[in-house]
Amino acid sequence: MQSSSARARWVIGNWKMNGSLASNAALLEVLTAAPRPRPGCSIGVCVPSPYLNQAQRLLGATHVVLGAQDVSEHESGAFTGQVSAAMLREFGGRLVLVGHSERRQHNAETSEVVAAKARTAFAHGLTPVICVGETLLDRESGAAEATVSAQLAPCASLVRDAGTSLVFAYEPVWAIGTGKTATPGEAQAMHAFIREEIASFSPNARDTSILYGGSVKSSNAQALFSQVDIDGGLIGGASLVAADFLAIAAAL
Ligand code: PEP
Repeated sequence: MQSSSARARWVIGNWKMNGSLASNAALLEVLTAAPRPRPGCSIGVCVPSPYLNQAQRLLGATHVVLGAQDVSEHESGAFTGQVSAAMLREFGGRLVLVGHSERRQHNAETSEVVAAKARTAFAHGLTPVICVGETLLDRESGAAEATVSAQLAPCASLVRDAGTSLVFAYEPVWAIGTGKTATPGEAQAMHAFIREEIASFSPNARDTSILYGGSVKSSNAQALFSQVDIDGGLIGGASLVAADFLAIAAAL
């Protein structure tokens, strides 16, 4: 889908806790052999941390951008099990997801911690992909915008400092891994809301990329990505199958 917007467009795969040395190699071989997306569009993969070294080696200087799925808000020290931004950079990471709903849910990450992680990532030259989204309960009770607004609020000062160097991802929790997708109209409405919210922090942030995530497939990608405020997608399940991921990327 051709867009007249100057905003960077992305399709980013979130492998979650999936993969093996053999399956990663097979997947990355196909992704790196595929033609690079048109100018202004990029594809990336956020791999589990133990596979950063392998992915760094296999991606080399190709057009596929390497990312991780989480980062510590701390620089270094006594934080057992955490991975620092400097470590991600050493292994070729350029993107990092922060605040994915699975981390908010299973690791009790607050929006303040998410903002601190994004701040640390940005300070180290990584592009944080800041994930926000409401639950089904929030949506059904009419609180979807209030929930997303509260998730964005702690990022205000970072938005002022980093502007378009950030990426946001709107991922309604009820659409992640469920097969249910927000309609293009529902997704567009929330993206427009997010754009207004971050522009209220800093007018320059109006041109920040906002991706949609939640059961994106090749069959619905085009309808979603053609919405005026949707700048691409964050892809979970479908990013594990090269042909599906590339078909989604072709809709950029
Ligand atoms: C995700 O994990 O970020 C995601 C969007 O998952 P899925 O595409 O499987 O819904």
